[in-house]
Amino acid sequence: MSAHDGACPALNVIMLGPPGAGKGTQAERLARARGIPKISTGDILRDAVQTGTKLGVLARKAMEAGNLVGDDLMIGIVEERLVRTDTRCGFVLDGFPRTVVQAIELDRIVDGRGPLLVLQIVVPEDVLVRRLATRRICSKCGVNAEPDHTDACGKCGGALVTRVDDSLDIVRERLKVYLRQTEPLVDYYSPRSSFRSIDGNQVPDIVTGAVAEALETVSRKVVL
Ligand code: AMP
Repeated sequence: MSAHDGACPALNVIMLGPPGAGKGTQAERLARARGIPKISTGDILRDAVQTGTKLGVLARKAMEAGNLVGDDLMIGIVEERLVRTDTRCGFVLDGFPRTVVQAIELDRIVDGRGPLLVLQIVVPEDVLVRRLATRRICSKCGVNAEPDHTDACGKCGGALVTRVDDSLDIVRERLKVYLRQTEPLVDYYSPRSSFRSIDGNQVPDIVTGAVAEALETVSRKVVL
């Protein structure tokens, strides 16, 4: 049975963009504002690595090298997560899909659950490299630190740390992987009327406004 029962218009959103584009921050804000879950596959994997589960053991090597974890594993994780009832009124996916195979499978998974709205966040590569060099995440709850929080996480008070894969050589590898494996998704989704591109090279609050506006214009075109 589909997790969407028709009691609320489903807001099914994908945040698409390279590492450092601000997907996590925007997904977090959008999910909070709309009362739907943010589903970050990176967070799920980091949590699994930290707690040492079988998934964590399987994913760790690829993550630390800046490569992608296998499609079958990722599709299984997302399919299982989207069955949970908290996704009844929608979800914001951050970091999935990352390959065309994942995108095709996601179309199958969400079939009958309302339209999939795709927001691409565009940021020049030199800005991405600079951002990732200074990015901090919370060691406790995993959220990206807001720029005005430098000592402790604004959400839970946890200590802020640098991600292992945010070192310069791994960042360069992740950007290459993005261009090779994930950017083709722009061609996959852009012919759809539910696709919007957003300039992510602006302060987070302005990007948040652009995200809200994009969803507004898209919802006029697409039946939600
Ligand atoms: P992120 O936090 O989204 O940058 O993800 C961190 C790392 O987790 C990536 O560099 C990949 O190794 C892995 N990962 C996250 N999401 C996916 C996905 N959809 N497919 C494959 N690997 C993923």
